[in-house]
Amino acid sequence: MSCYCGSGELFEVCCQLRHLVHERADTAESLMRARYSAYVLGMTEFLNRTWLDGDGVESAADLKVVNWCGLDIVSTRAGMKSDSEGWVEFKAYFIEHDRLFCLHENSHFVQNQGHWFYKEGELYRHEPKELALNAECPCGSGKKYKRCCRRQL
Ligand SMILES: [Zn+2]
Ligand SMILES: [Zn+2]
Repeated sequence: MSCYCGSGELFEVCCQLRHLVHERADTAESLMRARYSAYVLGMTEFLNRTWLDGDGVESAADLKVVNWCGLDIVSTRAGMKSDSEGWVEFKAYFIEHDRLFCLHENSHFVQNQGHWFYKEGELYRHEPKELALNAECPCGSGKKYKRCCRRQL
């Protein structure tokens, strides 16, 4: 199956590989994508391990409640193998009560001995949008919303 992060790659060679081997997330963006997929899958351990000074994320049960439906990388700055820090601005979408929410953040990542870590992020506020049942699903599947992401709830 194609990866949750929307890279177009197979999950096994994209975020799953980075969940299994942290070093394979060799850019800030690849760690960002792996963390998004970890949120989708409720992988608390990976999220905590890749969060510098993180004081813990929500429990796996809380994470799973969120109906994530897509990730857009808006821009990246530095964050390559040779950099010690990097920034990834992204929009992650989730659905709640037939409304589409956008988590828009500019995340700051740091690299430490070949491992990238999430440090902190600056959030931008967006109002949620109402989702019509017959409209095209925001996940990009091409299906109607009512036959796609709505059914996972
Ligand atoms: Zn991925
Ligand atoms: Zn969908």
